[in-house]
Amino acid sequence: MITRLSQLFLRTLRDDPADAEVDSHKLLVRAGYVRRIAPGVYSWLPLGLRVLRQVERVVREEMNAIGAQEISLPALLPREPYETTNRWTEYGDALFRLQDRKGNDMLLGPTHEELFALTVKAEYNSYKDLPVTLYQIQTKYRDEERPRAGILRGREFVMKDSYSFDMDEDGLKKSYAAHREAYQRIFARLGVSYVIVAATSGAMGGSASEEFLAESDIGEDTYVRCIESGYAANVEAVTTPAPAPLPIEGQPAAVDHETGDTPTIATLVEWANSADLGRTVTGADTLKNILLKVRNAEGEWELLAVGLPGDREVDEKRLEASLEPAEFALLTDADFAANPFLVKGYIGPRALQANGVRYLVDPRVVDGTSWITGADVKGKHVVNLVAGRDFVPDGTIEAAEVRDGDMSPDGRGPLVSARGIEIGHIFQLGYKYTDAFSVDVLGETGKPVRLTQGSYGVGVSRLVAVIAEQMHDDKGLRWPSEVAPADVHLVIANKDDAARAGAESIATQLDTQGIEVLFDDRKASPGVKFKDSELIGVPLVVVLGRGWADGKVEIRDRFSGESRELDIDSAVGEIV
Ligand code: ATP
Ligand code: MG
Ligand code: MG
Ligand code: MG
Repeated sequence: MITRLSQLFLRTLRDDPADAEVDSHKLLVRAGYVRRIAPGVYSWLPLGLRVLRQVERVVREEMNAIGAQEISLPALLPREPYETTNRWTEYGDALFRLQDRKGNDMLLGPTHEELFALTVKAEYNSYKDLPVTLYQIQTKYRDEERPRAGILRGREFVMKDSYSFDMDEDGLKKSYAAHREAYQRIFARLGVSYVIVAATSGAMGGSASEEFLAESDIGEDTYVRCIESGYAANVEAVTTPAPAPLPIEGQPAAVDHETGDTPTIATLVEWANSADLGRTVTGADTLKNILLKVRNAEGEWELLAVGLPGDREVDEKRLEASLEPAEFALLTDADFAANPFLVKGYIGPRALQANGVRYLVDPRVVDGTSWITGADVKGKHVVNLVAGRDFVPDGTIEAAEVRDGDMSPDGRGPLVSARGIEIGHIFQLGYKYTDAFSVDVLGETGKPVRLTQGSYGVGVSRLVAVIAEQMHDDKGLRWPSEVAPADVHLVIANKDDAARAGAESIATQLDTQGIEVLFDDRKASPGVKFKDSELIGVPLVVVLGRGWADGKVEIRDRFSGESRELDIDSAVGEIV
């Protein structure tokens, strides 16, 4: 295709926008790629839209290559599924909420774990259908507290989100690994330099999770790396080594959530009621309801029971399956509201989330007993958790900020810190959402099997800014050919009618060979045209200038800045 600058809906700007601090933001606006409508809300103009579509294409190709199937869910969603998983509340102010004309609560989707779980439940009912991975490339809405740097942190943005559903843990691990590799291919094709770091799962819940962080000083994430061992983690996910808690003599054996070994429910209840909880405990689950001790703001230890209101059904199910029948006492929203230290969220093997506070936990089995020791990321409180029994807090667990030079948790060398921009995030969610919606299929033995879910996101629109940020120079944007808005930027820098005819002929020849040409056929001065070509950032610039009379064209490499003169006759052949 030939795109003529004389006709293109494009105005480049000489000055930086007043609200821009970050280079990619300044350049994308100045080069006429995007325009601001409201904080964190942007329009895509022709060149910007082309780059966005190119990034989408790369992502789509790599998702299709691992067998993921594209679907498209609505962004306008009913409240109920998010109510079921408690995210209607947990998402807080970041959720765009609205009401329809009948007064029904609705939201604009920030991410779609609930809806994909429900979609699979509605269509599939046999183990023969599994595994399945579905994805969409869709506009997401989050009312970010600090929208930033143009499209880098938007309130409306494009995400590729995929979700895998498997029959078992092994399957989930395979789906996760396939995504990890697909993401490595995507970011390599886009030319982004990045690191993969251990992450916490935050609002998604679930367990194992890693982030792909594009290396950049303007990044909002800080990660640490140990050169010696290759350990890399978001600072939020660095588990502070904690002393192993000591099981107390004579206390009932607790539950090993890895193996699901039988807990003695009766003794747990007895023990819990012997502690001053201020309420009667009639049962305790192993995975999602545990008893914990929290050091409060006064430095005193408090004993609390923890549960997740939305999980009533799950808990009963698990209990029936593995334990003696017991009655349950679950905490209510009021309990959570009354105690800011109360942990609310899914308690998986790696991280758990309290109201606004993220806890790093270190699960381990000591003498056959499952212990979870944790500290919150800001080091304000220390928590010792153990399924259904007391512990000896020795008070030495310290989570302080991680610093350059601190020893890596694997003990193999010092940590170095750097900043990055999150471009992808992969999670082994496990059962959080499939439990919430009872997503079961009939297994091989004829018994229902609950599916295990993975969730995987790529910031598609954010990547446009990230590539701009990593690749630009002081003159303007520079796009790798995989995502560039055109392959060749052809500039007429000669007023001669014959030169114009020659340029037209080159444009046509390139087009015939399938090369995308951005053709600067305007009547502007060469200086203006060169400046625009540098600003716009197409990787190859072809100039018909003074050399035209001698049968020469100039080819400039936008990345290296090098230029060569070529015979007009051989130019097209060389470019193709
Ligand atoms: P961040 O830490 O930057 O706020 P997140 O952890 O909230 O991102 P996820 O929920 O993991 O984001 O979403 C998956 C991907 O979507 C992220 O890795 C990121 O690339 C992209 N993304 C998230 N929020 C935004 C946003 N406000 N604007 C543009 N892209 C975003
Ligand atoms: Mg976020
Ligand atoms: Mg994040
Ligand atoms: Mg994330």
